[in-house]
Amino acid sequence: MSSDSEDHPHGDEFQDNPLPREEPSEGEIIPKILHSFYEDRPFVSCTRCGESLLDFDEGYRISKNFSKDECIIEYALCLPCLDAMLDEASEESKVALAKFHSENLREVSGFNECALCDKKFDSVKDGDYSFAGVCQGDRMLDSAMVCFDCMEAMANIMSEETRRSWDKFREENFPGVPSDFEPFPSQGAPIVF
Ligand SMILES: [Zn+2]
Ligand SMILES: [Zn+2]
Repeated sequence: MSSDSEDHPHGDEFQDNPLPREEPSEGEIIPKILHSFYEDRPFVSCTRCGESLLDFDEGYRISKNFSKDECIIEYALCLPCLDAMLDEASEESKVALAKFHSENLREVSGFNECALCDKKFDSVKDGDYSFAGVCQGDRMLDSAMVCFDCMEAMANIMSEETRRSWDKFREENFPGVPSDFEPFPSQGAPIVF
């Protein structure tokens, strides 16, 4: 028989949890690889509209393009801006992109293999590739890697007009990147889940 009189088995479970908000504990904390490299911290505002990302209950998307382990371009888009960008695509491009996704999008998550083909990260890490995260608050709910071949394939199905409007997004938001800088034909093209 135990003489232990402790009657609070759960102890002080909230003791070290100073978060005032009631965060759903879905997903995981956004990994450092999806932090803003240029700001050296998690993304705080939408690259397109500048609004605070934490204010969007429906979440936001982070995209980062890499060449080997160097981040070439990165952005975070709130869902209204992501929708607006997709809306700027021509009808033809929208249909083509939706078809491409429905035909190729795989039931995988994470950065270990391409979301659109079966290439493993190990086989693309010495070239160009892209990481994306579906985030909400400080959590990442889903993530994906897209290999260069698939980025190129997506770019190739986009109409001239659509590519121009996404190039414009890139030029307006990343003035440091020359407009003819093209290791990524689909730079600025948001990855849709
Ligand atoms: Zn926005
Ligand atoms: Zn791929």
